Amino acid sequence: MKKNLLGTGMTSQRSRDWLVQRLREEGVRDPKVLKAIQKTPRHIFVDEALSSRAYEDTALPIGFGQTLSQPYIVARMTESLLAGGPLQKVLEVGTGSGYQTAILANLAGLVYTVERIKPLLMQAQRRFNRLGITNIRLKCADGFWGWPACGPYQGILVTAAPMEVPQSLLKQLAIGGRMVIPVGAQGAQSLILVTRTSDDFEIETLERVSFVPLVGEQI
Ligand code: SAM
Repeated sequence: MKKNLLGTGMTSQRSRDWLVQRLREEGVRDPKVLKAIQKTPRHIFVDEALSSRAYEDTALPIGFGQTLSQPYIVARMTESLLAGGPLQKVLEVGTGSGYQTAILANLAGLVYTVERIKPLLMQAQRRFNRLGITNIRLKCADGFWGWPACGPYQGILVTAAPMEVPQSLLKQLAIGGRMVIPVGAQGAQSLILVTRTSDDFEIETLERVSFVPLVGEQI
């Protein structure tokens, strides 16, 4: 079988179809999110030695003690972010492998992503180039502070867990915007949806999760 960018032709496509079917069974409903997962070759975002496991619904190691999140969690977070309507500008904190970023880039006008581990960020950039994705801006920095110069954002998605929602990120959320963020100590984290109204923030707890901690000097 001919090898192409997306892997071994039909094999990779079939694996993604299977993954999407599984996510549907797990309750993921948004057709835009399912389509983005269907289109995005997850095996490009892991080490070649792990590519045969890329379409399992499981988190996978990406080096530096970090992980690529489980597809179900990627889908749930993206779905919750998107439920407020179309997203022009999105901020992601914790680029990691770049897989979640690539999913967001399918669904938003422009994605800003911040990662503190430079080799991960550079590898993610190479993957976006390889896939021809051009609506992502990357920065190596402590994402606790967000990316204020480019805000406010209609959506903020955080893929590492602080002990509480950072005020710095709340300030960068547009009115009507939504932030999806895991919060809490390891072993006791919840996925939180924050919606900014004209004069307040509404908070909803979505589910129990397990993320790596949001690391930073001031955390
Ligand atoms: N969304 C990623 C993916 O699709 O591969 C998974 C990211 S992994 C669960 C969390 C990432 O957050 C790691 O790459 C980690 O280095 C990063 N991270 C942790 N603390 C951070 C901080 N303060 N600023 C920026 N990135 C941070």
